[in-house]
Amino acid sequence: MAQQEDVFKKLVSHSKEYGFVFQSSEIYDGLSAVYDYGQNGVELKNNIKKYWWDSMVLLHENVVGIDSAIFMHPTIWKASGHVDAFNDPLIDNKDSKKRYRADVLIEDQLAKYDDKINKEVEKAAKKFGDDFNEDEFRSTNKRVLDNQAKRVALHERFAQALNDSNLDELRQIIVDEEIVCPISGTKNWTEVRQFNLMFSTDMGSTAEGAMKVFLRPETAQGIFVNYLNVQKTGRMKIPFGIAQIGKAFRNEIVARQFIFRMREFEQMEMQFFVRPGEELKWFDLWKQTRLKWHKALGLGDQKYRFHDHDKLAHYANAATDIEFQMPFGFKEVEGIHSRTDFDLSSHEEYSGKKLQYFDPELNKSYVPYVIETSIGVDRMFLSVMAAAYTEEKLENGETRVVLKLPAPLAPVKVAVMPLTKKDGMPEKAREIIDDLKFDVKCQYDEKDSIGKRYRRQDAIGTPFCVTVDHQTLQDNTVTIRHRDTMQQERVAIDQLRSIIVDYVSLRNLLKKIKED
Ligand code: ATP
Repeated sequence: MAQQEDVFKKLVSHSKEYGFVFQSSEIYDGLSAVYDYGQNGVELKNNIKKYWWDSMVLLHENVVGIDSAIFMHPTIWKASGHVDAFNDPLIDNKDSKKRYRADVLIEDQLAKYDDKINKEVEKAAKKFGDDFNEDEFRSTNKRVLDNQAKRVALHERFAQALNDSNLDELRQIIVDEEIVCPISGTKNWTEVRQFNLMFSTDMGSTAEGAMKVFLRPETAQGIFVNYLNVQKTGRMKIPFGIAQIGKAFRNEIVARQFIFRMREFEQMEMQFFVRPGEELKWFDLWKQTRLKWHKALGLGDQKYRFHDHDKLAHYANAATDIEFQMPFGFKEVEGIHSRTDFDLSSHEEYSGKKLQYFDPELNKSYVPYVIETSIGVDRMFLSVMAAAYTEEKLENGETRVVLKLPAPLAPVKVAVMPLTKKDGMPEKAREIIDDLKFDVKCQYDEKDSIGKRYRRQDAIGTPFCVTVDHQTLQDNTVTIRHRDTMQQERVAIDQLRSIIVDYVSLRNLLKKIKED
């Protein structure tokens, strides 16, 4: 665990050092849980967004995109339930004055039981070596069974308290489990209170005329209120989907873990409108499609798992998360929800407008049901960076830090380097870039030794380095070096474009999603 935290710290400082992520307003000591993306971060982020967007609107004829405004009529948030129900249970420690989400404290406690069990298993595995039978050990060892029983009991009690929105019971669980504040180490807790996560501001200039509006806490509602516009103008037939990428804002109580939990973040959401009664079939289908999207990146299939919800949100009849193994454990990256007709029916009621769809095959009108896939760009970014960050011991004893990013997502696709600054090599390198720059992001680098230049590119995940040397001037060939293997090969300059462009194309990822 300590080692994992260490990796996470390194990842955060690497992200800053190489222009991926900066603390917002850093020269003013920062703004909590708000981050800026640097010159490399923005490229990686844009590539992630394009991968998602294309996977939705290119691979599905019946999915189209929109871009709705961040500001929306305030009644929308009443209808969606966010004004009344978008709350987190919070609790303060009276000694440290630190604020926590009560549910997160309890989830951490559940994870502690898991840790204890896993440690026992690891210890026994070491002790017994090849003779170790893990299943038998898990089902017979007293300490494992005790911890397992405690975990199950806590989990049941916690799920019940969440379902009943019983704040007193949440506090009692924290007390009974003897959970302490990580800062003060004490159990001196306040009551648990509900806290609404929406930011608000005033729209309009005069005090009387001003209207309180919210910064959207999710992009989904912009899709719901536009669904008939899109259906009619796009002549869409159910089932069909609407995709959107955009900023969302939540006044998170506990902002921690870098870009995992931010107050301003970006979402990629798709609402898929289906016939009532068919929603669970589509829910399963989108679960599988979304998992394939993740796995196509090649970050390691074992790093993903589904986590079904204990407590369904007020609008859902099925919900699961896709969790990714971050350096701080398995965490939600994407939510997939079967939202029934909750949102559309509620908007019908609050707006007084009909939001029904006439189904020509059934010859009747109904309010469609909705499957939603909702993924955070920033969490996705973090998972890609975490999986890509690698420290490698080289044969010469040195260590190299390399970001093994999927090539189509890498910020820079090729660095072109003249071996020396003389003999026309820089000019030749420029010529190569002048040809490639219409297709891919290139970087020119002539400073320091070639070895140092390779390290710089490894650190930002550039899949290819092309070196112009003396031989180039004679026969128009260059060396091309591959990031992961560090192998170099000699190729003709006029082959470069097809080698590089083919390799880094998003098409490779998109095709994998479609493979069975
Ligand atoms: P959590 O339980 O972690 O607060 P959530 O279940 O409230 O997340 P959803 O409302 O399902 O999240 O939002 C969909 C996705 O948006 C999440 O899977 C996550 O990737 C992203 N997301 C939500 N809140 C944040 C945040 N504060 N910072 C960054 N990404 C976020």
